[in-house]
Amino acid sequence: MTVSHPLTTAARPAALPQRPLRIAILGATGAVGQELLQLLDERRFPVAELRPLASPRSAGQTLAWQGRSLTIEPVTEEAFDGVDLVLASAGGSVSKQWAPLAAAAGAVVIDNSSAFRMDPSVPLVVPEVNPEAAFSHGGIIANPNCTTILLTLALAPLAARRPIRRVVVSTYQSASGAGARAMEELQRLSRTVLDGGEPVSEVLPHSLAFNLFLHNSPLQPSGYCEEELKMLNETRKIMGLPDLRLTATCVRVPVLRAHSEAVNIEFAEPFPVEEARQLLARAPGVELLENFEANRFPMPTDVTGRDPVAVGRIRQDLSDPNALELWLCGDQIRKGAALNAIQIAELLRDPAGLTAATVSAGGAA
Ligand code: NAP
Repeated sequence: MTVSHPLTTAARPAALPQRPLRIAILGATGAVGQELLQLLDERRFPVAELRPLASPRSAGQTLAWQGRSLTIEPVTEEAFDGVDLVLASAGGSVSKQWAPLAAAAGAVVIDNSSAFRMDPSVPLVVPEVNPEAAFSHGGIIANPNCTTILLTLALAPLAARRPIRRVVVSTYQSASGAGARAMEELQRLSRTVLDGGEPVSEVLPHSLAFNLFLHNSPLQPSGYCEEELKMLNETRKIMGLPDLRLTATCVRVPVLRAHSEAVNIEFAEPFPVEEARQLLARAPGVELLENFEANRFPMPTDVTGRDPVAVGRIRQDLSDPNALELWLCGDQIRKGAALNAIQIAELLRDPAGLTAATVSAGGAA
């Protein structure tokens, strides 16, 4: 299949070649970049050549990968010569500058930033939810926002059974969502507070040590922040539900790694709890973790460094006979970013994997 794309000049095959690939990681020194390197190794992704790219600050430094020492290069047009796949995680402005050039040079770019997510001609893909979308790319595929990926994994299997009327979600987002330097800052400022000092933040807008604050992405005239609107707009696009009603409150919490979400889902009709539990227990990418007797439900530490999104405490909303409540935790550097990107690349190499993963969303009421 070939698809023309406004961001690239030439038609191209949608699938990735079967041979080992020449891969560039744009943002290789960052939190997501480091996870990408680890996952390529863990998942035995066939790599012919690996080019770590980062800012001029890191250029010339080396990093170890599969027993080799790789030199970090700055980003230039030549850096994408002969590259089959670019895994980009260096922020929106860097992706806007380089992703179209890399795609025009023949690479498939899987971009972790928000730069192209809402571009109607760029697919926004969660392989367990809308794998078929990956094949409509014209050189660039967007990896969704991390909180959105985690949420859609839980929503899609339920929406496939009964139409969703409205979603209300509150997030508890870890420091790692703001990158490697934010993780270091949380650790450093926590020590400062424990030592009786005054924590002064430089990376995040406030100290996260023994504190929390509303997500610091830019506020919109509506009073919502960008992160909250990403959850609305990206969930609609991924699930193919342009009229889905969803409202979010996003909060940064003093957790080092892995995000949590409290989710209220109103359906068009009552949804028996046990049915929802069974659907989620066998949904791809989801792990049911609930023990009501022991009051034991997902925690960020349960999912740190792991692939599945843990879901639990599924219960009837006592205020609405058509609504369910649930709680979920997921490692957002992994499934919320790096793993999702690599799963997209795996899908493009093996389209047969598409049917195994598909969960089609039923619709919105
Ligand atoms: P990070 O830890 O701050 O890493 C940023 C990376 O980008 C570093 O490798 C940095 O290189 C590189 N970079 C910065 N400016 C550059 C430039 N001008 N040219 C080339 N490289 C440059 O950030 P992150 O958390 O990994 O996030 C990276 C992207 O993924 C962002 O768009 C973010 O929104 C998205 N994302 C992050 C998460 C998450 O949980 N962290 C989840 C989903 C999506 P240097 O080390 O040389 O500065």
